[in-house]
Amino acid sequence: SSFFEVVNYTPPDAIFELTKTYNADPVPRKVNLGQGTYKDENGNPWILPAVQSAKEKIKDSNHEYLPILGLPSFRTLATDLVFGKHSAAIRERRVASCQALSGTGALHIAGTMLKQALGRDTTVYITKPSWSNHRQVFESIGFPVREFNYSSSAGVDMQSLVETLNKAARKSIFVFHASAHNPSGWDCSPDQWKQIGAIVKERQLFPLFDAAYLGLTSGDYDRDAFAIRYFADELALEVAVCLSFAKSMGLYGERVGLCAFSSSTPTITAAVESSLARIIRVEISSPPAFGARIVAAVLEDEELYAQWGKDLVRMSSRIAEMRWQLYQGLTELCTPGDWKRITGQKGMFCILGLTPDQVHHLQKEYHIYMAESSRISIAGLNESNVRYVAESINQTVK
Ligand code: PMP
Repeated sequence: SSFFEVVNYTPPDAIFELTKTYNADPVPRKVNLGQGTYKDENGNPWILPAVQSAKEKIKDSNHEYLPILGLPSFRTLATDLVFGKHSAAIRERRVASCQALSGTGALHIAGTMLKQALGRDTTVYITKPSWSNHRQVFESIGFPVREFNYSSSAGVDMQSLVETLNKAARKSIFVFHASAHNPSGWDCSPDQWKQIGAIVKERQLFPLFDAAYLGLTSGDYDRDAFAIRYFADELALEVAVCLSFAKSMGLYGERVGLCAFSSSTPTITAAVESSLARIIRVEISSPPAFGARIVAAVLEDEELYAQWGKDLVRMSSRIAEMRWQLYQGLTELCTPGDWKRITGQKGMFCILGLTPDQVHHLQKEYHIYMAESSRISIAGLNESNVRYVAESINQTVK
């Protein structure tokens, strides 16, 4: 007998499993379009030059504990970065923040905080499709999670979005992707965000922004942060922001992120922040220092900050170029399918619209790895493999 008899087997996470299978594949021609991690023009992991220099700057740091809420300079700089230096919410001391274990940790803290504030019966609405972890994170906290149609192959399904917002109960939580929607690659335009914001405000819904790709989406941080700033400042709404530096600074393994709430008064903000400290104290006591020090070193130094701006442009331009080359390849080969979407979509991901059988065939015959939904990480493409990928898709589809 065992104390663990009631524990059911949980299948491994599909995308981490795909990386494992890819790593074990001995065929040199293999291509990994699964996990969304940026790769350079040779298919290698890329350490951003700004991050490399920041590491030099912090190399003499000690190894003491950070405060419970995280590295103070990191919190201030990251909050300014996402809300904008001129944010009224920041000026009026209406933003509570804490360091988090990357974007996922920030989502978990935000959810835990919102359970306290709104109660566990509050429905959390997530987009359909969405990042596979959204449902799990919010369900694990105890919330009922509901999906709403977000996109089709042609773009954002504004009608469904508006209908869902109009029908949802007051106080419902809406998890929005601030930019570079994962997996669809379709983002709302500023006008669409304005329309959404007006309904969120009128119907008293709670917006939570998952911000995993700010800066990497367009290469321009301010542009990618539009929705967050519009909601928090123009509409003066209470919002949650779950920020990750995994993609935007290439700090995947360092687990550095920020969880921030804007609220209506400084007194409420102080209470929210004290509550964040309690959540962190019981979960991890205090967050890891290394990644936060790197981010702070980049953000506080004018030269490194400028370098980071260039690094973001380099990553986003290479992704845009690869979208273009894949599109051209498939179009030249007259591959049946709607490939226009490849260049219309934004960010790291694109759903090709292949069947699971075709996805398996690509893996088995051509050693090209992608999620079963045929979502590909464009960052896995480069000058040496994009033609091969286009030809393999062509052979598979025809
Ligand atoms: N949200 C979305 C939509 C994501 O795609 C990711 C990364 N795949 C995350 C959050 C968080 O990732 P991390 O915990 O690595 O920062």
